[in-house]
Amino acid sequence: MKFKRQFDKSDVMSVQELGFRKPFGIVGFGVTGRALLKLFLKLGYQRSDIITFDDKDLEADERNSDSFLEKKPKTLFVSPGVPLKTPWIQAFKAHGGRISSELEFSFAALQAERVVGITGSLGKSTTVSLLNEGAKSIDPHAFAGGNLGEPLASYCLHVMEGRPRAQFIILELSSYQLENFNNLDIEVAGITYLSPNHLERYSSLENYYKTKLFLPKRAQKAIVLNKNGGDLERFFTDHFSGTTPVFWTDRHDSLMQQLQVTHCELVGAHNLDNLALGVRIAQVLNWDARAITAMQKYKGLPHRLENLGNLNGVTFVNDSKATALESVEQAIQSVRSQHQGRIHLLLGGKDKGLHWEKLRPLNQDAQLDCTYFGEFGETIRDRIARPGRYFPKLGLALLDLEKRICPGDLVLLSPGGTSLDEFKSFEDRGHFFKTWVSSLEKLSKKS
Ligand code: ADP
Repeated sequence: MKFKRQFDKSDVMSVQELGFRKPFGIVGFGVTGRALLKLFLKLGYQRSDIITFDDKDLEADERNSDSFLEKKPKTLFVSPGVPLKTPWIQAFKAHGGRISSELEFSFAALQAERVVGITGSLGKSTTVSLLNEGAKSIDPHAFAGGNLGEPLASYCLHVMEGRPRAQFIILELSSYQLENFNNLDIEVAGITYLSPNHLERYSSLENYYKTKLFLPKRAQKAIVLNKNGGDLERFFTDHFSGTTPVFWTDRHDSLMQQLQVTHCELVGAHNLDNLALGVRIAQVLNWDARAITAMQKYKGLPHRLENLGNLNGVTFVNDSKATALESVEQAIQSVRSQHQGRIHLLLGGKDKGLHWEKLRPLNQDAQLDCTYFGEFGETIRDRIARPGRYFPKLGLALLDLEKRICPGDLVLLSPGGTSLDEFKSFEDRGHFFKTWVSSLEKLSKKS
């Protein structure tokens, strides 16, 4: 489902032909909803053709679903943050309304762009960013986005404003986005990892994993999968059938030896698996050595095992993004492989239905000192049965830690819980932690 002609105002007709009937309803007025509104307006739609809904955002036209539906939208563009199973959305669909998404609409505007799609329970953003480095080294107009960074609608808008089209697009796709993306059609699909996550939005683990398999079903040229990706190998083997070539890869991939890719700048062995996935995709796409070097040199994204450096003998690592237990385990393993001394682990935040008991093996590490914080901190302490101090706010936990850290220690924020009990986002929480580290630095300079 691609537009034949240039994507501009003249395409408004073809948009209607594709079944996107006015008035449009944007459900969820966050980053993607706002980008989509801008694109609609650029395409020549009137503001009155579009109704925005968000029950939390004061800038949305409507905050009540009844009054939103009274305005009779014909197509709903539902943000990934809003569950499709929401009863009034299901009722809208049952009455013949069309459900779509920012991605579906924007994807229809692509022409010759070659698209790589990446999904997984863990490692998506890192792998997309690695691939983005590789793609940019070959194609200066490459675009990476989707779940991470800029929405695809913004890419389309910029194309209409004169941005050269990308030769390669790397799309990060969450399971929520895959649920509502019927025209997805990509060259290469990559899956990084499968593990329990988002169980508050899926009726079973199997349903969550099956949503992920929609991505490889739509890959034309190759499917690249992490052999070391948790439940991925078992689930994919049991549930996937298709004719697209499948490549299993990880840090031991012979291609890595052949290309002498034995290390990367990112912290932690799991990142070598992410790199291997990137290297294999680069090979499928015939990218040259420049791309491999660019991926190897990539230093990583903030808030994901971000090494904040050493201050008076204490190392600080910000892994605020870790909101799955596998990420916490990985973080501890990664820093433990490089650090022999005491590790102060900051665990806490808001729960999203995780099986915290899984962290009980942490008890075997006598040099691990846990500090708990936030809404679920006390319960986490009970569930993993490891003693430690508890504080209702991260800031209070840090104030206490400040008095206890000694040279040779490492402080790791890898909370497991989401940030939403106290912060707007994991980035916000990570910045808070980084500001604390900077304040220690200033203090130590003064004394
Ligand atoms: P996502 O975008 O899927 O949430 P990120 O790349 O942001 O994933 O990484 C999130 C967390 O997952 C990090 O804290 C990291 O420790 C962990 N992680 C990343 N890649 C892997 C992997 N290949 N295997 C296991 N854990 C991983």
